[in-house]
Amino acid sequence: MDTQTIAEAQGLRLHITGVVQGVGFRPFVYGLARRLGLAGWVRNTSAGVDIEADGPAAALDAFLTALRDELPPLARIDSLSAAPRPADGYTTFDIRESRAEANAFQPISPDVAVCDDCRRELFDPADRRYRYPFINCTNCGPRFTIIRDIPYDRPLTTMAGFPLCPDCAAEYADPLDRRFHAQPVACPVCGPRLWLERPEDASEQASGEDALQATRALLRGGAIVAVKGLGGFHLACDATNDTAVAELRRRKLRVGKPFAVMLPDLAAARRHCLLSPAEEELLLSRARPIVVVRRRA
Ligand SMILES: [Zn+2]
Ligand SMILES: [Zn+2]
Repeated sequence: MDTQTIAEAQGLRLHITGVVQGVGFRPFVYGLARRLGLAGWVRNTSAGVDIEADGPAAALDAFLTALRDELPPLARIDSLSAAPRPADGYTTFDIRESRAEANAFQPISPDVAVCDDCRRELFDPADRRYRYPFINCTNCGPRFTIIRDIPYDRPLTTMAGFPLCPDCAAEYADPLDRRFHAQPVACPVCGPRLWLERPEDASEQASGEDALQATRALLRGGAIVAVKGLGGFHLACDATNDTAVAELRRRKLRVGKPFAVMLPDLAAARRHCLLSPAEEELLLSRARPIVVVRRRA
């Protein structure tokens, strides 16, 4: 649409497609609308995101510009159509219930490595998610792995079986909270938890922090541990223990094929590997991918 049409319009209807679900897009739209004094609503559908907004023409114009310029880091707009319409008399801006549409699909964000804000909370003894392994927020955490269908909302994810506790529900509903409408939001009270089982005895050996510490001790002792993660099992052992690595190779029938090695940070990676700037950037990118690098002698 041309700018002249927008200037005369009192209301706008938008349809947006792209990676716009599970990336904090609705809270972003909500925040923009509030900032610009617009009323109306935003809604996920199986076909993308629909928005209706009422307000002064200049504010609607600014809204369209900001949608593209201030897009959340994980979001990507593939198409945006905007049609003027008469103002509808909305008095508030709301996030409306999602709507499923048959045979319509949208690309979904991949899982994203824990962000700096969540990492800070994770190691803050005063935080209610202190050392909680399933910490996440609008900007990080599982996405693709937990989605069963779209629109991307908690009931259509594998988190559906974990009803929110009052604290998490309050964060989820608070537009000023960084977990506003974060679908995988969880905490030690209401979310998934850790436990440890031994092959000889399938009963629970330890849970929570105890399970974590017991597993560390097992790894140090040369054990091979199957760590159930978001999307499946990781077989883990101490990479500096030749016996453990040889046993894992034997069990996996992987005589020469490389295993991925986990290191805590870039400094440790530099001690073991020769890293180019591009490889370092890749290692620290949001996807935290496995990167094939040259090993030091
Ligand atoms: Zn986060
Ligand atoms: Zn909770």
